[in-house]
Amino acid sequence: MQVIVIGGGASGLLASSMIAERGHDVTVLEKNEKTGKKLYITGKGRCNVTNDCSPSDFLENVVTNAKFIQSAIYGFPPEKTMETLENYGLRLTVERGNRVFPSSNKSSDVIKTLSKACDKAGVTTVLNAEVVSVAKNSDGKFEIKTRAGENYSSDAVVIATGGVSYPLTGSTGDGYAFAKSFGHGVVEPKPSLCPIWVKEKETAKELEGLSLKNVEANVFKDGRKIFSQFGEMMFTANGISGPVVLTISAEINKTDMKNIAVSIDLKPALTTDELDKRVLGDFGKYSNKEFKNALNDLLPKKLIPVIVRLSEIPEDTKVNLISSKMRKKLVNLLKNFTFNVLSLAPISEAVVTSGGINVKEINPKTFESKLVKNLFFIGEVLDVDAYTGGFNLQIAWSTAYAVSRALG
Ligand SMILES: Cc1cc2nc3c(=O)[nH]c(=O)nc-3n(C[C@H](O)[C@H](O)[C@H](O)COP(=O)(O)OP(=O)(O)OC[C@H]3O[C@@H](n4cnc5c(N)ncnc54)[C@H](O)[C@@H]3O)c2cc1C
Repeated sequence: MQVIVIGGGASGLLASSMIAERGHDVTVLEKNEKTGKKLYITGKGRCNVTNDCSPSDFLENVVTNAKFIQSAIYGFPPEKTMETLENYGLRLTVERGNRVFPSSNKSSDVIKTLSKACDKAGVTTVLNAEVVSVAKNSDGKFEIKTRAGENYSSDAVVIATGGVSYPLTGSTGDGYAFAKSFGHGVVEPKPSLCPIWVKEKETAKELEGLSLKNVEANVFKDGRKIFSQFGEMMFTANGISGPVVLTISAEINKTDMKNIAVSIDLKPALTTDELDKRVLGDFGKYSNKEFKNALNDLLPKKLIPVIVRLSEIPEDTKVNLISSKMRKKLVNLLKNFTFNVLSLAPISEAVVTSGGINVKEINPKTFESKLVKNLFFIGEVLDVDAYTGGFNLQIAWSTAYAVSRALG
């Protein structure tokens, strides 16, 4: 079979090598001057290739369409990814949280490994080949046209063009247009795993760059708690970011985004009463100081002026003059440092795209279109997304394997 793979990113490269290893004639068309541009920036340049966990634990980390992806994950679980990459010659290291990285800590080694595997299997890689249309003629053959005016013909097409986040890497949503031209539905793409912009922009700006460890972020929609996440976060010029916030973004991007507040518990290890006792202890220690100078043991330096202001206790109040009512208000603020959500950051800044090809029209075992024979969709172009930790790349690998198996 002649197979054209559109997109030389994570899913396209692995699918190409695996399909060619099964004896097919594979050409991968990549619009950039090199393959794997997004892979290069993954995991802060280290590429978190997968998460070394069981398929059932894996599926807990899939936010959208976990059921649809289940068969692919069981068919090619993280351990198979590790085995395959190691067989291709890439040494791997498992880190905290089961995150798997190349031992060299270089994402470029992942790209080199996959490119080498493609070369070895006889894949033809065409660079600077931006596909502009895909059609099927009356003989059942696919006709693929590139912007440069080249025409390709094949028996099967695998669309591996990614989502729409970080478009400079090449993922600009072209796969959605190809899918639509065959009558497929596309679920509106939304940002996921992205910073959150807040209404209290000035406060965020004042705290820009401050990173907080071991906080609990509680998310409220219309005053009702809908989600809670413990971990690390940071402040940006427009709002909040960091691991906890990226996870929250994946949870709230399907809501109408109205009336959402993120309330940060700065001291989640202490109950309100325990924190009150702790503050009382500090106030005893610094009883003759001004309020603004009494919080150094409790909070990072950058946060103190903000908390002092929001507590509404005048900053120069002598600590021994602070009433218990004022202190209780301060404690409440420390347990509920609240930001109102303005919006998610733009999709171009999102780590992944939520939304994409409607999975109802895709066979979950083969990733073949239910509408067009021998047309396949893999990776982020599909309406499937997961949390951080190597899960999104594993979706790319598992779907790539499923297609190779289907074609094999
Ligand atoms: C900053 C950042 C860090 C990330 N870190 C991690 C991580 O550590 N671990 C993890 O699991 N996930 C991570 N991700 C997510 C992960 O990179 C993606 O989910 C994954 O790359 C998706 O693979 P894909 O093959 O579907 O798409 P991509 O890797 O985006 O590949 C799509 C390819 O198709 C090409 N293409 C698009 N349109 C056309 C066209 N018309 N013609 C020809 N070629 C075309 C593009 O140029 C691109 O090369 C990260 C994402 C970002 C943005």
